[in-house]
Amino acid sequence: MTLLENYTREIFRSKCMPGAEGVHCHATLGSDIRDVLPYLNTELGGAAFTREPPSVTLQVHGKLITVYSDKIAVNALRDENEADKILNWLKETINDTWERRQEITPSYDAVAKPVLFEILKLLPKTNCRACGEKTCMVFAARVTDGVKDETGCPDLTDENQEKLKAYLSGFCFD
Ligand code: SF4
Repeated sequence: MTLLENYTREIFRSKCMPGAEGVHCHATLGSDIRDVLPYLNTELGGAAFTREPPSVTLQVHGKLITVYSDKIAVNALRDENEADKILNWLKETINDTWERRQEITPSYDAVAKPVLFEILKLLPKTNCRACGEKTCMVFAARVTDGVKDETGCPDLTDENQEKLKAYLSGFCFD
């Protein structure tokens, strides 16, 4: 059964900065999706999770997205087209995650760890060991634990170093 069939969206600009670039978007959901939120937290590496009211905050596609049981909020969008693209992607992801929930361990962690795959895809994947680790995979695992960061791989391109830095900025490491 499809969890989320439809939604209605509202687009608005900041009232205090009417000339500012970018729009915000709220989508009111056609069904209650609270049960999928812990699974989304696992799948997308949520930057924050709260049980009451239930919500998960995600950093994806360079946006900060908060998914509640009955609505979705997305900030700093370029325009309505980008809002529609992200909402469509979210709807598909929510339904796909719900369908596969028996394969996923739900996470109720308030502050999730970075997703290893998201780090690994930015690395050169040459396993050159210059970082002091045996493989890029091991280095990525050390980054998810907060032991290493974007400065630890000397072969990382400037662009990917910036991307990794931006991605890691959404997490807290104790
Ligand atoms: S230095 Fe970079 S490329 Fe080399 S193994 Fe470490 S993470 Fe991989």
